[in-house]
Amino acid sequence: MKEKTLIVASNNAKKIEEIKNILPEFKIVTLKEIGFDQEIVEDGSTFRENALIKAQTIAEKFQINCIADDSGLCVEALNGAPGVFSARYAGKEKDDNANNQKLLVELKGITNREAYFVTSLCYYDIQDTKGYYFEGEVNGKIATAPRGSNGFGYDPLFIPEGFDKTFAELDASEKNKMSHRANALKRFKLFMDKASPSN
Ligand code: IMP
Repeated sequence: MKEKTLIVASNNAKKIEEIKNILPEFKIVTLKEIGFDQEIVEDGSTFRENALIKAQTIAEKFQINCIADDSGLCVEALNGAPGVFSARYAGKEKDDNANNQKLLVELKGITNREAYFVTSLCYYDIQDTKGYYFEGEVNGKIATAPRGSNGFGYDPLFIPEGFDKTFAELDASEKNKMSHRANALKRFKLFMDKASPSN
């Protein structure tokens, strides 16, 4: 039986699915399920700031502990872009297809395809009135054309180190073993296990 309930401050169904798969021991509750349908303005200048904004907003409003992840893709040849602007790289918010096309245009003719995904996860604890942070990364390369249909965002262009398939070509279970989100959530899980060893 799942004893620990966790609110996840996200409206991204694919991201929530990944978190559920990575943390099967928690009962994951979504914003939709608690009746929160507003957009949280992510106007921080770092992944950490945005993760805190999301987790704290929901934790304080509902007086319940909450996690939020803020993630993005950092490309070496583009000096870390799209970075914190990953969701709106091509202008419009969360247009995955346009973002991927823009990335390919920006990298046209560039041989250095090195990149990494990064997640900053914030666990906001209402008793402690503070956020705890857990970071995760995964290195890889940007493909020359989109491949695969699994996942979301830049997954069709991201080839993780040691593989020749993109995240979108790999099974969800494979991505969830090694992704930036998985690495951050594993650290969060260790923290929770230490805080409450019986979980
Ligand atoms: P968010 O603000 O953390 O939801 O994520 C910002 C953007 O980063 C998303 O809109 C995606 O474009 C990209 N992103 C974050 N995580 C992933 C991932 O696991 N795969 C592909 N793209 C991702």
